[in-house]
Amino acid sequence: MAQDNRAPISADPASWSPETQLVHGGTLRSGFGETSEALFLTQGFVYTSAEQAEARFKNEDPGFQYSRFANPTVSMFEERLRLLEGAEVARAAATGMAAVTAGLLSFLSAGDHIVAARAMFGSCRYIVETLCPRFGIAMTLIDGRDINAWKAAIRPNTKGFFFETPANPTLDLVDIAAVSALAREHGIKTVVDNVFATPMLQRPLAHGADVVVYSATKHIDGQGRCLGGAVLCSEKFLTDHLQDFIRQTGPSLSPFNAWVMLKGLETLPIRVKAQSAAAAFLADRLAELKGVSRVIYCGRSDHPQAALARKQMTGGGQMIAFEVEGGKEAAFRLQNALKIILISNNLGDAKSIITHPATTTHFRIGPEARAELGITDGMLRLSVGLENEHDLAADLEAAVAAARSA
Ligand SMILES: *Cc1c(COP(=O)(O)O)cnc(C)c1O
Repeated sequence: MAQDNRAPISADPASWSPETQLVHGGTLRSGFGETSEALFLTQGFVYTSAEQAEARFKNEDPGFQYSRFANPTVSMFEERLRLLEGAEVARAAATGMAAVTAGLLSFLSAGDHIVAARAMFGSCRYIVETLCPRFGIAMTLIDGRDINAWKAAIRPNTKGFFFETPANPTLDLVDIAAVSALAREHGIKTVVDNVFATPMLQRPLAHGADVVVYSATKHIDGQGRCLGGAVLCSEKFLTDHLQDFIRQTGPSLSPFNAWVMLKGLETLPIRVKAQSAAAAFLADRLAELKGVSRVIYCGRSDHPQAALARKQMTGGGQMIAFEVEGGKEAAFRLQNALKIILISNNLGDAKSIITHPATTTHFRIGPEARAELGITDGMLRLSVGLENEHDLAADLEAAVAAARSA
C-alpha cells in the first residue's frame, strides 16, 4: 500500500473519507448495541412523564415526537448523506419528486419568478411549467448551457434558479459555479437536482449552489427496491423555509425505506466507481460500432462540454446516451434484441437498463419540445449496472447489429 501521510484519525466523522463516512456516519446505536443500524418502524414515541412530553413539545428536551417530524432510522440516513455532501443539514423525503417539490415550493410564493434549464426530468418539468404557474409563480425555461440565457431571464422578482446537471437524457451540463455566482449577485437561490452525477462525482454546494435535491430511488438505493429522496441545504434555509414545509405537509420518508437507503449508502462508492468504469468502457465500444451515429458520455473528450465536465465532476458517471441510424424502428429493434440489458425507465440500478426517451420518459412533452432538447427518435439512454462489462459490450454489439439488419 502507498504511504499515507495524513493526520492521525480523529473521532469527528466530518474528517473521515467518504467511504468511511458512508459505513459509520450518523449511526445511532440503541441500548442493545446492534452492529447493523436498527429499523425503528414506529409512528410515535413514549414519554416517561407528562412533564417530559411538555418539555419535548417546547423543544427543551431532545428526542423524538412523531415520525412525520423525525425518526431515528430516517435521521441516520439524513446524517450519513449530509456528511458525504458536506452540507449543514439534510432532510429526507418520500420520493425524489417530493424532495424537488419541497426544495422549490418551501421558499417560493405567488408573485415570484423562477428560471429553469429546460433539459430536465419530465416530472420536474411539470412542477416548474404547470404547477408553479397555477399558484402564481411565473417561470421561464431556458437553454441551461448558456450563461447569457440565465442572465437575460432574470426579472426583479426572480427568486429561484433550478437545473439538473448532467440532464436527462441528453447529458447536457450547466456550469454550477457560474450560474450560482450569477444567482447570488441577484439574491436568487440556486437549487440543483444532482441525481445523475450522484454525490460521489459532483458536489453542487461546493460550487456555490444553495440547495441540492436527490432521488434516492436511483443510485442511493442502487438495487431498484425503494422510493426515496433528500434535500440538502444550510441551517438558515432549513429554519427559514424547509423545516415547517416538510413537517406540516408530510412528504416523510418511511423508516423502512430509510433503512434500505442507509444500507445503500454503505456501498455507494464502490458501486458508482465500478459502474462509471464500465460506462466509460461501453461508451468507447459503442462509438466504434457501425450503425451508432453518436455517443454522448460525460467522460469522453468528444462530449460537447467536456471541459466543464472535468471542472465540476470527478468522473463521467454511469449514464450514456447514444443514437442509432434508422430512427425509432432501429431503436426498437435494438432494445428487443438485448439479452441482458433490461428495457425499463429506472436508472442507477445494479441491473443495466435501457430506455427510449422519445416514446417513454419524454413522450408527453411532444415532438417540438423533444426537438428543442435534441432528443431524436434514434436516441437511447443506457444506465450501466454491475454486470460484467464484456457481457454488456457483447449484448450491445449484437443488438446494434440486429438493429441494422432490417
Ligand atoms: C428519478 C428522478 C427524479 C424523481 O425521483 P423519484 O424518486 O422517482 O420521485 C427527479 N430527478 C431526476 C433527475 C431523476 O432521475
